[in-house]
Amino acid sequence: MVYLIKDVISHLESIAPPAYQEHYDNSRLITGDADAEVSGILCALDTTEAVVEEAKDKGCNLIIAHHPILFKGIKSLTGKTYVERTIIRAIKNDVAIYAIHTNLDAVQQGVNQKIAQKIGLQQPRILAPKKGILTKLTTFIPAENADEVLQSLYQAGGGTIGQYAHCSFRVAGTGTFLPLDGATPYLGAAGTESRVEEVRVELMFPNHLRARMVQTLKAAHPYEEVAYYLQALENEHQEVGSGMIGQLPEPMEGREFLRHVKKSMGLQVLKHTALSGKKIQQVALCGGAGIFLLPAAIHLKADVFITADIKYHEFFDADGQITLADIGHYESEIYTKELLKDLLSQKFSNIATYLTTIVTNPISYL
Ligand SMILES: [Zn+2]
Repeated sequence: MVYLIKDVISHLESIAPPAYQEHYDNSRLITGDADAEVSGILCALDTTEAVVEEAKDKGCNLIIAHHPILFKGIKSLTGKTYVERTIIRAIKNDVAIYAIHTNLDAVQQGVNQKIAQKIGLQQPRILAPKKGILTKLTTFIPAENADEVLQSLYQAGGGTIGQYAHCSFRVAGTGTFLPLDGATPYLGAAGTESRVEEVRVELMFPNHLRARMVQTLKAAHPYEEVAYYLQALENEHQEVGSGMIGQLPEPMEGREFLRHVKKSMGLQVLKHTALSGKKIQQVALCGGAGIFLLPAAIHLKADVFITADIKYHEFFDADGQITLADIGHYESEIYTKELLKDLLSQKFSNIATYLTTIVTNPISYL
């Protein structure tokens, strides 16, 4: 079986749609040809020249990295920065670089769930679910066609809420229409008003599936003109958003918990605010720079919030309400490469997939 780079990308994007990335992000294929055959994949947190070299040595023409090597436009490629040198080396060696960053942070099966697993949290859920990314579709279908049309809409990605698929609501009623000259109606005749037993069907879907949902509806619906409404919803999407919160199976003493985090995340060091003496059970976390989630962690009564890149003054914001722990950016996200390998092996068991052995952490501890 031959797989192209675009097959790998489309699998990953079915799990972490690019539409979920933050506005400043650049999750995409950064170098390389999407139509090239995949010879092997190297999973990494960062792409550096050494990682490109490692990919070449291992016979991989695709690097899947969490952090994009390019965030903004560049006007020349002369090799004056490590970013430019990395890009040049990748292109010269025919190594494609694909980045899957804040979209992989945002999904349930993403970066934060991996951290929650490492720490042993139960029932981790999104700490700050995203709003404004759901649409409601309402449409009117002749009663006998409703099941068939709905099946197509479910297959296109509609009607899934959490662990439940095929979520819809229907109510019976009467539809009316008057086909005008030139119409070729499925029911009734031009010039005569028709009354038809229809069902009004409602279901939700994520915004980014909008084009696919409308296209599917039109293809599956028997009418020449399909009546439907799309409405933007204010609802939070419970499976998409920032950070996670979960529970330890048993409460732990503060110091014992921090030692446990150090051990399970393989840390040399962690920084934390004062321990309150209260046992720890509710744990909030966010890989990378997540201090913006502190209010959400406090609001959901987390005992501790684990993240990275916390500045001196931001530690004060814990203000006795929560324990803050900074475990380091690289350290918090290093297991993302394992996550990527796991996600790829679900579908591409015959593609050689490796974890980088290069330590790309720019920070050392003495
Ligand atoms: Zn990061």
